[in-house]
Amino acid sequence: MKLVLNGSFEDSGHEELGHPERPERTSAALLGVDDLHLGDDLVRAPMYAATRAELMRVHAGTYLDELGAFCYAGGGDIDEDTYATYDSWSVAQHAAGAGLAVVQELQRLGDGVGFVVTRPPGHHALADRGMGFCLLNNIAISAAALVAQGERVLIVDWDVHHGNGTQAIFWNQPDVMYVSTHQSPLFPGSGAAYEIGGMNALGSTINIPVPPGATGDVVRRAIDDVATPSIAAFEPTWVLVSAGFDSHRDDPMADLALTSGDFAAMARTIARFAPRAGRFAMFLEGGYELNALRTSVAASLAAVLESPYSAEAESFGGPGAQQVQSAREERLVALRIAEEAATQGDYS
Ligand SMILES: [Zn+2]
Repeated sequence: MKLVLNGSFEDSGHEELGHPERPERTSAALLGVDDLHLGDDLVRAPMYAATRAELMRVHAGTYLDELGAFCYAGGGDIDEDTYATYDSWSVAQHAAGAGLAVVQELQRLGDGVGFVVTRPPGHHALADRGMGFCLLNNIAISAAALVAQGERVLIVDWDVHHGNGTQAIFWNQPDVMYVSTHQSPLFPGSGAAYEIGGMNALGSTINIPVPPGATGDVVRRAIDDVATPSIAAFEPTWVLVSAGFDSHRDDPMADLALTSGDFAAMARTIARFAPRAGRFAMFLEGGYELNALRTSVAASLAAVLESPYSAEAESFGGPGAQQVQSAREERLVALRIAEEAATQGDYS
């Protein structure tokens, strides 16, 4: 199977000395791609900067104006975690455009698997605010473009952090299902199991928080037992992954205990939710330990491309089985309450 990668662009201007979200991350992810030796099966989508109209499917025009002006004035800190530089506006536009170009190339081929290797990441970015290292919500911009074409889009987010931005953007959008597994408690603090979507999209947000130390078996069970029945009923026509590799056991930002083999297993499971080849793409989100990032990228891509790669063993035995079961129950209760309230017209 072919791998469609975004066209490379210069992201080194988006850097703040000592910040973990650094240019070496994309290099490490690309080394993971190189490790698969794909030869002619590696296809590059053209480099592309998202247009204002494409960004405005997700972001407020006032926010885009403010962010552009802030960057061109030299940038600085947006909040205690999030920075922008003079170059960041251009880098962020190209990061958003990279997803659009990969999706378009997959549509043209009618085959293959997509991988969008860009930074800054996107899943914390809200419609009107950047946060959590993120400026523009790359995966949401691609999902919104697909929805505009009449597609039903599943987004699975296995980053160790909850993708609060993606959830908020599609909260009331019935054509997008957002599924997140994430460590709790952890930044940004959202992503409780009872967060299930707005009145027009009840049940299309699925959150499964897991405790520090959770291993791959727990996270994989969260997807299999809690999310899979709803995903099957949703019948996605496209599947996108917020592929954050900061849930790897070696990552310094958080405390989950996943291995590259766990990412491979999850990628294989999630890719099967797509109705056919050419409708599955992974977007790089977090991942701050460069070797773990490299090996996890290679392992998860190899799994969906059916390429040979020797990944770490899948992990077992950590805490969290009880929390997954509780999340399932809490979600069902929230759905029942919301549906009752909706019939009485007082849920918003
Ligand atoms: Zn993260």
